[in-house]
Amino acid sequence: MRTLIQNVHVLTMDQTYTEYPNGFVLMNGNTIEAVGASGTPITVQVDKTIDGRGAIAMPGMVNTHTHIGMIPFRSLGDDTPDRLTRFLFPLEKACMTRSLAYHSGKYAIAEMQLAGITTFMDLYYFESDLARAADEMGARAILSETVLEDACDSPVPFGGLEYAERFIPEWLNHERITPAIAPHAPYTNTTESLQQARKIADHYGVPLTIHVSEMDFEMKKYEKEYQQTPIAYLAACGILNSNTVAAHCIFATPDDIALLAQHDVAVAHCIGANTKSAKGIAPIQAMQEAGLRIGLGTDGPSSGNTLDLFTQMRMVANFHKTQLKDRSAFPAREIVRLATMGGAEALGMAETIGSLEPGKKADLLLIETESVNMFPLFDPYATIVYSAQAANVQAVWIDGQPVVQEKSLVKIPLATLRQNLSSEMTDFRATASTFSK
Ligand SMILES: [Zn+2]
Repeated sequence: MRTLIQNVHVLTMDQTYTEYPNGFVLMNGNTIEAVGASGTPITVQVDKTIDGRGAIAMPGMVNTHTHIGMIPFRSLGDDTPDRLTRFLFPLEKACMTRSLAYHSGKYAIAEMQLAGITTFMDLYYFESDLARAADEMGARAILSETVLEDACDSPVPFGGLEYAERFIPEWLNHERITPAIAPHAPYTNTTESLQQARKIADHYGVPLTIHVSEMDFEMKKYEKEYQQTPIAYLAACGILNSNTVAAHCIFATPDDIALLAQHDVAVAHCIGANTKSAKGIAPIQAMQEAGLRIGLGTDGPSSGNTLDLFTQMRMVANFHKTQLKDRSAFPAREIVRLATMGGAEALGMAETIGSLEPGKKADLLLIETESVNMFPLFDPYATIVYSAQAANVQAVWIDGQPVVQEKSLVKIPLATLRQNLSSEMTDFRATASTFSK
C-alpha cells in the first residue's frame, strides 16, 4: 500500500537539513519510498493521496527517556523535597501492579503519539506488560526492565535481573519493540548487580540504560566512597559502551564527558525534569563538542509532567541560551534535530528512523499551521520550537500505519484509555491520599 502526502512543507532532518517548502512524502508499506519537491513525477501507483497543504511534515520525534507506567503519579507531591524516596518508591512498592502499569503505559503512549512521538525508550517495572501495551498501540519502543534492590515487580532483591532474562528473549526480534535492561542508577545497585545487568545486555545484544549523575547525594556518595564520579565508577566497573544510554548526566565533569566519549555512551537530556526538580542543567554543549550522541527525554509523567517534546524543545532553548548568555546558542533547527535525528542516534537507530529519507521507516507527523499560535510562518524550525505545541500535531504515522488522524487516536478513543486507567487507580488513589498527609 502506497500513501502519498503532497503539497506539504517537508523538513527531512537529513544531514544537510534538506527542506522542501512545497514537497511530498511517499510511503510504501512501512517504509519511506521517496521524498522531494512537488512536481517531481511519481511513476508508481499510489493507493491513497493526502493533501498536506498548510502543514509541516517532519520525522517522528524520539523520546529517549521516560517511565510510561507512572501516569498515576502525575501532579502528586510535585513540589515536595525528597519526593523520590518519600512518595515514588514507597507508593510504587505499595500499589503498582501489572495491570496498573499496563493501562498507564497505554495512556502514556497515547499522550506521546498525540504529540508526534513515534519512538521512545522506557525504563520501568513489569516491562513485559508494557511491551504488550506498546505493541497494541503500534508504537516503536525500547522497553527496559528496571533493576534495583527492592523492586515492585519482584520479591527477590535485584529481581529485575531474573525478570530481564525472561522478558528479553520473549521480545527479541520484534519489528517495533526492543527489550532492554535498566539498572535504575548506580546508587540503587551494587557493583555486582550492575555488572550482571551489563552481562545480560551483552548476551542478548540489547541496550542498557541508567540514570546517572542526577542527584546531589549521588555525587557525594561516590566522592566519599570511591573518590570518583559516578560516571568514572561505571566506566571502571565495565558498564559503559556504545549500547548504553545515560539519562541526565547533569553533573558530568569535563573528565566524565571525555569518558562518555571514549566509551561512545549516548545521553538522554531531560531538561524539563532536571530544572523542575532544581537539580541543574546538563552541559550538553560540551557533550556535543566531544561528539556525544544526545537525544531529548521527557522523563516520566511524574517528573516531566507532560510527555511531549515540544515542551522539552522550548526548555532546551530557554535554559541553555540563558546559561550560556548567548541568544544564538542552540538555534531552533539544532533543537529540532535533537528531538528527531539526535534521539535516533542516541538510541542506536539512526539507520532506520530520525529523518525523512528513502529506505527509512515511515515514522512521521504532520503539524498544522492553522491554529492561532502558528501564524505567520517564516521559519518552520522556529515555529516548531518556540510557538508550536503538542495540540498542533494533526497526524502521525508509525511504521507506515496511521496512529493519529485529525488530532485523534485512530485505534482506540482516548476516553476509553482514560476510563480503563482511572478504574485501575482506586487503591492507588486511596494510598496516595494517606501519603500526602
Ligand atoms: Zn527517569
